Amino acid sequence: YIEFKNIDKYYGDNHVLKGINLEIKKGDFVTLLGPSGCGKSTLLRCLAGLEQISGGQIFLDGEDITYKDPKDRNIGMVFQQYSLFPNMTVEENLSFGLKLQKLASDEINRRVRDAIDMVELKGKEKEYPGNLSGGQQQRVALARGIVMQPKVLLLDEPLSAIDAKLRKSLQASIRRIHKDLGLTSVFVTHDQDEAMVMSDVIHLFHDGVIEQSGSPVEVYTKPETSFAAGFIGNYN
Ligand code: ATP
Ligand code: MG
Repeated sequence: YIEFKNIDKYYGDNHVLKGINLEIKKGDFVTLLGPSGCGKSTLLRCLAGLEQISGGQIFLDGEDITYKDPKDRNIGMVFQQYSLFPNMTVEENLSFGLKLQKLASDEINRRVRDAIDMVELKGKEKEYPGNLSGGQQQRVALARGIVMQPKVLLLDEPLSAIDAKLRKSLQASIRRIHKDLGLTSVFVTHDQDEAMVMSDVIHLFHDGVIEQSGSPVEVYTKPETSFAAGFIGNYN
């Protein structure tokens, strides 16, 4: 499981994360829901080790990973912008990180094939990202997130650039992959409907603090703060 203990993060004078205490159970699909600028991406980036925190500690399965190198954290990440390598094929995009780890080539091929199967992109191995639809590109990004066989998968608004119809099928794919691989997943969105259908647990974020945590039903039917009450159900 993941544990954030009293996490503070400053960018200069900007106090972005304000003493976050948060526990995420192994195997849960957890959503950080909240308005733009409240610190959701920052929290994910701190967990991945892409940002140093200003205070507090982060634990993964009881181990203090606060100062651990990102590549040793066993955490996969999928971003809103696909951030694929445009000059590499789908296959090459997926094998790149594995080659850096110096895995044997048949192991690399097997993992790449499995990841492509998982995201339902069979037949697209030799395509370049520019020849794929937005949804397909995001499937490649998802495959790249799981090909390293992480324990934890972080998804930072992976669906926000995808049109509504494709979104449903990607939501289902993400949930299925989460379950099949036994991952612990932390998903970021500011879309309430998406949070509702995807999550085991929702953490409602506001201005660097967690306002409320609970199951989708709890958060939606029993808002505990005026912010929660105002945010939930307000679709503007
Ligand atoms: P959104 O829903 O728009 O993605 P968010 O909840 O992910 O928002 P963050 O990206 O975590 O918000 O940003 C939180 C705050 O930190 C904002 O005030 C932002 O301007 C600031 N911030 C984020 N990244 C940096 C950075 N690299 N340098 C300086 N300030 C930053
Ligand atoms: Mg963000």
